Amino acid sequence: MAFKEIGVIGAGTMGNGIAQAFATKGYAVILQDISQPALDKALKTIAGSLDRVIKKGVMTESDKAAAMALIQTTTEVSGLKGCDLVIEAATENEAIKVKILQAVEAVVAADVLIATNTSSLSVTRLAAQLQQPHRFIGMHFFNPVPMMPLVEVIRGLQTPDAAVNQIVELSKAIGKTPIVVKNSAGFVVNRLLCPMINEAVFVYAEGLASAQEIDDGMKLGCNHPIGPLALADLIGLDVLLAVMNVLSDHFEDPKYRPAPLLKEMVDAGLLGRKSGRGFYDYQS
Ligand code: NAD
Repeated sequence: MAFKEIGVIGAGTMGNGIAQAFATKGYAVILQDISQPALDKALKTIAGSLDRVIKKGVMTESDKAAAMALIQTTTEVSGLKGCDLVIEAATENEAIKVKILQAVEAVVAADVLIATNTSSLSVTRLAAQLQQPHRFIGMHFFNPVPMMPLVEVIRGLQTPDAAVNQIVELSKAIGKTPIVVKNSAGFVVNRLLCPMINEAVFVYAEGLASAQEIDDGMKLGCNHPIGPLALADLIGLDVLLAVMNVLSDHFEDPKYRPAPLLKEMVDAGLLGRKSGRGFYDYQS
């Protein structure tokens, strides 16, 4: 199936990046969010991101205008009716996602695939909440979406090969490199990455070194392009905590327990870049 119109649900950090990734490759995008301010902010973020690409000489003003013209926004799920793929990238909360996915299934055509960008929830369990579980798959992008080449294609227990193949091909068509992963908490990348970041929060809370020194340690000593605490701020501390909670609940292994400081920072609303402060201050 040739995909033409992609629905993206959730216009936050990931949703706006996913919308940009598709629109710059010529796909029509309908970006849906319950919050009009989130949609307005997403369009500004995408425009700003494309301006940076223009400055690098990779894109022209007319390419930007063409991409922006391909993105429509809506606050209504019914606005996704004509889409031939819907990618859900809303808040990492199972009850919210189930409600959204059931609403999507009720408006789109019977052969439309529905994907989730969840970082950690079970694709198999989400699929089981749909009338047609075989139309469901994980399409897990990485932050910032326009820059990061990987897509984890998550095969739920009910996902047929045909759906996996379609999402693999689509990922390649937007210039990404897919890896196909069986459903399991945290999939592959977050299973490895999030416990490392969580451990950096323990190290920071124990006062072993400053945030900058911890980050420099991993950048200079392990060749990581970004330190774990700066990455936590980029991912969003609430998202990171949600992933650790899922790993902890799923494997029932204390090695996955979230750092108490991570919980406290989320309680305080220190979520990282999106709230202006996390391990670093982004307000000034
Ligand atoms: P975010 O908090 O930046 O944005 C979530 C958006 O969802 C908000 O704009 C919110 O208004 C919207 N939303 C909430 N309820 C909704 C509803 N019922 N209908 C429509 N929109 C709704 O979150 P994010 O960081 O973009 O994460 C979104 C998803 O992507 C999560 O599942 C997360 O686990 C996953 N993810 C995040 C990252 C990351 O680095 N942040 C990476 C990969 C995957």
